[in-house]
Amino acid sequence: MKGNVIGGKDFVIMAGPCAVETADQLYIIAKEVKKAGVSILRGGAFKPRTSPYAFQGLEEEGLKMLRNVADELKLLIVSEIMDYHSLDLFMKYDIDILQVGARNMQNFALLKELGKIKKPILLKRGMSATIKETLLAAEYVLAGGNAEVILCERGIRTFEDATRNTLDLSAVALFKEMSHLPVIVDPSHAAGRPSIIPALSKAAMAVGADGLLIEVHHDPANAMCDGAQALLPSNLRNMTKELKKLAPVLGRTM
Ligand code: PEP
Ligand code: MN
Repeated sequence: MKGNVIGGKDFVIMAGPCAVETADQLYIIAKEVKKAGVSILRGGAFKPRTSPYAFQGLEEEGLKMLRNVADELKLLIVSEIMDYHSLDLFMKYDIDILQVGARNMQNFALLKELGKIKKPILLKRGMSATIKETLLAAEYVLAGGNAEVILCERGIRTFEDATRNTLDLSAVALFKEMSHLPVIVDPSHAAGRPSIIPALSKAAMAVGADGLLIEVHHDPANAMCDGAQALLPSNLRNMTKELKKLAPVLGRTM
């Protein structure tokens, strides 16, 4: 993907806001993540919200903002696609990686359409999906002819409620063992709070993940989505510094 490889020796970090809110917000955060050494900007333009009254995303306007900022700062983009009707928009703005969210992991109609395109698909594990179900969902895309699938562990639902979800590190190790696919970890949606994200990120690298998907916001208290789990840009910089120290021990580059 434009010379970038996920699933090689390099440990890749994707970071940015949960949702694209305004052009200014996106630009501020994109500049910060770039400063932290991140090469892939995340940002949702179509948001799958639990409540229909919550902010649903800027849709096409959000994709356009992502493209503009990414071009200016020379970043790649990952953004969530919720249904196949918006696929044309993702192609129009040349979104580099299409994210399938946890709530859509078994949206088979969407997966089949994504199997027909030539763009990497970041497939998030459903919050109650087994490892086998996740691999079979990936298979839908692969079987359609698109070989570029990245699996993402983002925490599963358990009895535990001190964290938003429970990060299943065994799944990361098993995904690596059972498939040839790159695997990344999203500690933001697993933790639901910023304080333990650096620890979970180090654990992810140690267990064999190929990268991370992290939510960052410069003003978490006023974020329109998932502010409670957003890392501040300074936290992200510190975290990447620590990961850079750990990388050589684990045979990774950063
Ligand atoms: C997201 O990445 O903002 C998101 C909605 O994640 P998930 O699908 O894992 O809940
Ligand atoms: Mn989010």
